[in-house]
Amino acid sequence: MTGIKENLTEIQKTIPKNVTLVAVSKTKPIADIQEAYNAGQRIFGENKIQEMVTKFDALPKDIEWHMIGHLQSNKVKYMAHFVNLIHGVDSFKTLKEINKQAKKHNRVINCLLQARIAKEETKFGLSFDKINTIISAEETLALQNIKIVGLMGMATFTGNQKQLQEEFLSLANFFNQSKKQHADLKILSMGMSGDYQLAIKNGSNMVRIGSAIFGVRNYIV
Ligand SMILES: *Cc1c(COP(=O)(O)O)cnc(C)c1O
Repeated sequence: MTGIKENLTEIQKTIPKNVTLVAVSKTKPIADIQEAYNAGQRIFGENKIQEMVTKFDALPKDIEWHMIGHLQSNKVKYMAHFVNLIHGVDSFKTLKEINKQAKKHNRVINCLLQARIAKEETKFGLSFDKINTIISAEETLALQNIKIVGLMGMATFTGNQKQLQEEFLSLANFFNQSKKQHADLKILSMGMSGDYQLAIKNGSNMVRIGSAIFGVRNYIV
């Protein structure tokens, strides 16, 4: 008795209609994803390309796969034929590689630029200045097989609600400013199991929830 269906139902009740739920299935077996799928969930997030490819091959093809982890450029080619959204893009070099691989499949791959909002040093991401530079650059506009459709952020791993709120708000404010110049920006991906309610209150429209659906993971990733 895993309770995946019940967890999903409970979480769906607390999420407004305009907020997209990405079920983060990293490290979890295919049977767990199938159970969530049977309960109606269609969007899943993984943080390792190889693991996502294995799951893509084994599971129904109407699943939308989101890559939420830090990207290694040399592995982008393995997911270019099916990935729906890449959340963690944090360099122009990676964008260029995604564009190159997407082109081989005649696809346009949607990407989010990852902003650094956490105070921790361990979190990846770009400064707001750097995001501005990348979004507006001629070199980026020339990439016809990627589309930057929003921003992603991970808050500090802390229970301090005030700090979390500040971090979410800073990204939401930046996102709202950027949207005025860049109409393609539609998605603001922030919020995980422990902080998604606060993230939604502060402007998130896409949450990435793992352990609250599938239970705690056995190992740290
Ligand atoms: C693992 C992970 C999540 C989900 O974390 P939970 O706390 O289990 O909900 C969300 N976003 C990213 C980028 C992750 O790596």
